[in-house]
Amino acid sequence: MNRTLIIAEHDGTSLNPSTSKCARCATAIGQDFDIVVMGSSTNEIATQAAAIDGAGTVISVDAEHLANPLAANHASEVVAMADGYSHILGPSTTYGRDLMPRIAALLGVNQVSDISAVEDGYHFKRPIYAGNAIVDVHAPEGSKVVATVRVASWKALGDGGNAAVESKSASSAASSHTRYVNLESGGGERPDLQTATSVISGGRAMASKENFDLIYELADLIGAGAGASRAAVDAGYCPNDMQVGQTGKIISPDLYIAFGISGAIQHITGIKDAGTIVAVNKDADAPIFEVADIGLAADLFTVIPEMKQLLG
Ligand SMILES: Cc1cc2nc3c(=O)[nH]c(=O)nc-3n(C[C@H](O)[C@H](O)[C@H](O)COP(=O)(O)OP(=O)(O)OC[C@H]3O[C@@H](n4cnc5c(N)ncnc54)[C@H](O)[C@@H]3O)c2cc1C
Repeated sequence: MNRTLIIAEHDGTSLNPSTSKCARCATAIGQDFDIVVMGSSTNEIATQAAAIDGAGTVISVDAEHLANPLAANHASEVVAMADGYSHILGPSTTYGRDLMPRIAALLGVNQVSDISAVEDGYHFKRPIYAGNAIVDVHAPEGSKVVATVRVASWKALGDGGNAAVESKSASSAASSHTRYVNLESGGGERPDLQTATSVISGGRAMASKENFDLIYELADLIGAGAGASRAAVDAGYCPNDMQVGQTGKIISPDLYIAFGISGAIQHITGIKDAGTIVAVNKDADAPIFEVADIGLAADLFTVIPEMKQLLG
């Protein structure tokens, strides 16, 4: 049973690229993998999952009470099919970080967190101390491995697969002690920060919620996700699900543009895997210029309107 089960993440319409990144991690372990899609009306998502290169079987578990990503409901479904798998992988996104520890607890194993590299099926690497050190994590040989995969560290697989889709009824009823109330999201229609190919962020220097609209306007012009430093979030300029960094989101866009962000280590740890980092800061000695590929020592309130004009 050297086989991996990947937990698919989706929003009911599209499969999150984190699923394919987890699948890449499974191939690094050297294992064949299946994908479980949980939700309500999951046909379209299952079809998208079946297209991931190398997917064995897509198991589609369709039930009304699985429609929303409640760990209390999803965990028991995964546990019910865990016998056939040596490894169960989920993304290190908000969904995966909620779900995977519950699966691990139900299976009586410790969770391996944030896999960034694979040595073999039981030896992994993950960053610690805000990405300043890499630690070797050894899971007990032969035990079931339940792990989150650091999505910023893995590239998605191709989409030339043609896996069989198997429908399965839910094995448990809805949880009696957890219920879905509603979703409040600050991100609107903008791309998800953890999978966006480009992200534009603002820091404390934005100085107000109203000024932060400049970040949204620029992001929308190039179809980017919008992010923020913790100082901007704490000051109430934008919602906290936009926070990038150690205690926010770890992201890996091809392009990251930071406006008025000093470059504290806790922020930098969230963008270490970004392709090109562009920083605009009026202090030429700001630490962010040490990691930026392109730096502009200038006032963001001059630069953003100019960029908007050029792009608009
Ligand atoms: C345990 C812990 C966890 C943390 N986690 C996170 C995290 O996840 N993410 C995070 O971001 N931070 C985090 N922090 C906070 C972090 O240490 C910094 O305080 C924070 O990142 C600073 O945000 P900032 O760069 O927006 O603000 P500041 O450090 O105040 O920098 C503002 C910058 O804007 C520049 N500036 C000012 N005006 C202009 C202008 N008009 N045009 C251009 N530039 C201008 C200034 O030169 C300055 O460099 C954490 C801290 C701790 C202790």
